[in-house]
Amino acid sequence: MRLASYKIGVIPGDGIGQEVTAHAKAVLSTVGVRFGVSFEFRDGMAGGTAYDALGDPFPAETERLCRESDAILFGAVGGPKWDALPREKRPEAAILGLRKNFNLFANLRPAVMFDPLVEASTLKAEVVRGLDLLVVREGVGGIYFGAPRMTEQVSPGEERALDTLVYTSSEIRRIVRVGMEMASVRGKKLLSVDKENVLESSRLWRKITKEVAGEFPDVEVSHMYVDAAAMELIRDPLQFDVIVTGNMFGDILSDAASMLTGSIGMLASANLNEEGFGVFEPVHGTAPDIAGQDKANPIAAVMSAAMLCRYALKRADMADAIEASVSKVLGDGLRTSDIHTPGTTLVGCAEMGGCLMNLVGD
Ligand code: NAD
Repeated sequence: MRLASYKIGVIPGDGIGQEVTAHAKAVLSTVGVRFGVSFEFRDGMAGGTAYDALGDPFPAETERLCRESDAILFGAVGGPKWDALPREKRPEAAILGLRKNFNLFANLRPAVMFDPLVEASTLKAEVVRGLDLLVVREGVGGIYFGAPRMTEQVSPGEERALDTLVYTSSEIRRIVRVGMEMASVRGKKLLSVDKENVLESSRLWRKITKEVAGEFPDVEVSHMYVDAAAMELIRDPLQFDVIVTGNMFGDILSDAASMLTGSIGMLASANLNEEGFGVFEPVHGTAPDIAGQDKANPIAAVMSAAMLCRYALKRADMADAIEASVSKVLGDGLRTSDIHTPGTTLVGCAEMGGCLMNLVGD
């Protein structure tokens, strides 16, 4: 029998992106051996590192590498060294380049509470214990990309700024379908968040969501205004399974949801297009304050590798094995400094990554 084989583009980026991505790659490689899957890893440059080497934060060879890969493991880009560059040369241009070139319209942000970390949350343990929700955010449309956008001088001393919130029915339909598909293999509950009482675009959003709901009779669909959803997320987050929403509402709600679980060093994300190609990355940035000091938590990057297995390779068994190794390491009391509490064992990035790799190979 031929082994399943996948080409994985690895783009560590800058700062701690380089430290944590190395561990995510090692974990992926080890879980591959255990499940009889072979990976061909190919490294690419992006962000400030690519600008320094090639004068471009998203070089053509990195774009080519992405086109030739089945999925991308991404670290993070940016840092004070490159902050003064013009916008198109700044490291963040790599993220926009990826989103735009590959039409990564579906941004998936899970918020999962690992039981051993319940006490690290800023909310009461009974409010967050067992939390396992997924925010599906539309990532290439809505007010962040709508035209026209401008600032104009209307009279001496008075300026006027304009952004446009626009969605088409097909843009709404494809992201709501992703939400429904996710819900149908999870808890079969989907909440669509909008502001239908005020916004024209939300009226269309709700209408299309109701139409798509007809295609998924086993998913229980509900609707909530974004202000109510923000309150409910903090009051009783366990009521949620999958939340689907537009770009700006999703940006805000996914950050709020992720903070329910404690540290940014734990949070993974996926960005998918219609062909199932995806970029998998931790939510955090390059953390210049701790870069190069072996202090970064590699769990967000390792959980991103788990998402790669689940969503790009459709290998839930491999994803489950990676997530189980994270649970086990935390259960054993190992903690990087961002999640360290009295009575637990403080370890660095390298030791945490090494333990995760050993456990996933067991
Ligand atoms: P950040 O996420 O890099 O850091 C915020 C805080 O969280 C810092 O105190 C940092 O030490 C801590 N932290 C982050 N990840 C951690 C981890 N894995 N383990 C332990 N602690 C962790 O956000 P920032 O400071 O606002 O941004 C720093 C740089 O990263 C900026 O240049 C920003 O533009 C960039 N950035 C990039 C991305 C991306 O590439 N997707 C995302 C966010 C920020």
